[in-house]
Amino acid sequence: MSPRYDAIIIGGGHNGLVAAAYLARAGRKTLVLEKRPVVGGAAVTEEIFPGFKFSVFSYVVSLLRPEIIRDLDLPRHGLQILPLESTVTPMDNGDYLGSWSDPDENRRELCRHSPRDAEAMIQFGRLMQHMALAVKPILGMVPPDPASMAPSDLAGLLKLGGHFRSLGAERFHALFKLMTMSSADYLDEWFEFDPLKATKSASGIIGTFLGPRSPGSAYVLLHHYMGEIDGAFRAWGFQKGGTGAISNSIASAARSFGAEIRTDAGVEKVIVKDGRATGVALSSGEEISAPLVISCLDPRRTFTQLVDSRDLPDDLVEGVRKYKFRGSSGKVNLALDGLPDLTCLPGMGPHLRGAISISPNLAYLERAYDDAKYGEFSRHPYMDIVIPSMIDPQMAPPGKHVMSIFVQYAPYHLNGGWTDAKRDAFGDAVVDTLARYAPNIKSLILHRQVLTPLDIERITGLSEGNIFQGELALHQLFFLRPVPEWAKYNTPIKGYWQCGAGTHPGGGIMGASGRLAALEMLRRTP
Ligand SMILES: Cc1cc2nc3c(=O)[nH]c(=O)nc-3n(C[C@H](O)[C@H](O)[C@H](O)COP(=O)(O)OP(=O)(O)OC[C@H]3O[C@@H](n4cnc5c(N)ncnc54)[C@H](O)[C@@H]3O)c2cc1C
Repeated sequence: MSPRYDAIIIGGGHNGLVAAAYLARAGRKTLVLEKRPVVGGAAVTEEIFPGFKFSVFSYVVSLLRPEIIRDLDLPRHGLQILPLESTVTPMDNGDYLGSWSDPDENRRELCRHSPRDAEAMIQFGRLMQHMALAVKPILGMVPPDPASMAPSDLAGLLKLGGHFRSLGAERFHALFKLMTMSSADYLDEWFEFDPLKATKSASGIIGTFLGPRSPGSAYVLLHHYMGEIDGAFRAWGFQKGGTGAISNSIASAARSFGAEIRTDAGVEKVIVKDGRATGVALSSGEEISAPLVISCLDPRRTFTQLVDSRDLPDDLVEGVRKYKFRGSSGKVNLALDGLPDLTCLPGMGPHLRGAISISPNLAYLERAYDDAKYGEFSRHPYMDIVIPSMIDPQMAPPGKHVMSIFVQYAPYHLNGGWTDAKRDAFGDAVVDTLARYAPNIKSLILHRQVLTPLDIERITGLSEGNIFQGELALHQLFFLRPVPEWAKYNTPIKGYWQCGAGTHPGGGIMGASGRLAALEMLRRTP
């Protein structure tokens, strides 16, 4: 006889683990079922090649909500973020643009390229801080439905209206512009130095099928800025042991509150009887019952694979069909025999403990997008590169290194589809591009793992390989994420809930969806 639980969470992504921790902390007997042998979903560390450990997918952290770190006491469970010291953008003329953690050094560096931009950066930094604070309460609230007359929705809308009013006209207008403009247009209003605009606007294209000149990309920029301003770490950092160690710390906290976590336990179906979820059926045939079933999977899997669409209203099924995934990112993980030598900054230096951004100018990024727009991977892609073994030596054997290369764009819907040959060609394009700035890279490569969006989908279950469980575009944010009327973590099937990044406030290692979903469940199912 299967044991009985109060709640079953499908998927041990970091959001599922956060939800499990909060439910267990409230005394609910909670079980997490994870399909893979490891928990973490897109936040996992794996030894892909003997001795070389990789944050296989997500690689840096800043968005993790401070309240979760506090509530779950994550440092006690192993959370330890090491700072990324810098971002260096190699330029085509052999120079570089550096962004350093020391503000004075940073200002001097920017002055070297544009005294005007160095001045503007102070104001820009202040404004982004205000914008992050303006969005902060929204990240922490269950989205009210503007089309509903329910008292809780009206109260939520009133609160939201009051919040926007309190911003004052100037900040509200600035926020509105950020929500609607392209990151390039937005940054054009502030800065003149192209490599600076390119590097900053790159945050606006990560994980989306947008170019820096596409309207809407400025919001993604703000989304990525949030952690730098409001997060616990104030800057992008690297978790000791890789991003899998973040997931493991949350799993450990969940276990400490009594949650059970099973790996190699893929769920085939949610069992629904008379419009109510009563448990799950595993791929092994095992059935486990619970009055609450929570999916940490993306909306497509939650609504069209785990349950029978006939149990759902047509407009919801149609909304999920229209929800945009359009994966656009790839990842290349390299095991290296030594360190890359940048032409613009030769030899060893602090820049190798930070990020290297291949974003020499805005036109470069827009052209990279042009390739993707017409169904090809970028021949010269945007790349965000870190060398985790420089920050945490335990990631690679002594004298060796691991390099993580996040790549944009690799469209899921590639012309002719992805094949092994195309994966190799994509990996070659990435290495060739890097070799333009670090000519010794090819001679250092011991092993190479190339992940296309199709690979990301196959391994993690993220539909179309979208890193955020669906694009962070204005038309699928807040009360529209994932679909209108069902943005409060519940579903039309009683007892069936959703808690993944496909719900408000969206993707990144943030944990906010898992937390909000758990708190809402606890409130509505006493
Ligand atoms: C290549 C890449 C790079 C990224 N880089 C960063 C970064 O540097 N920083 C950052 O903040 N964010 C980054 N992200 C985004 C971030 O990692 C994700 O948005 C976030 O991890 C999603 O978490 P989640 O818990 O909502 O869902 P997921 O991580 O998608 O978790 C879902 C879980 O469900 C499991 N599962 C699927 N099907 C079943 C089933 N049938 N039964 C049981 N279990 C199932 C999956 O194995 C997975 O563990 C990146 C993502 C990718 C893919």
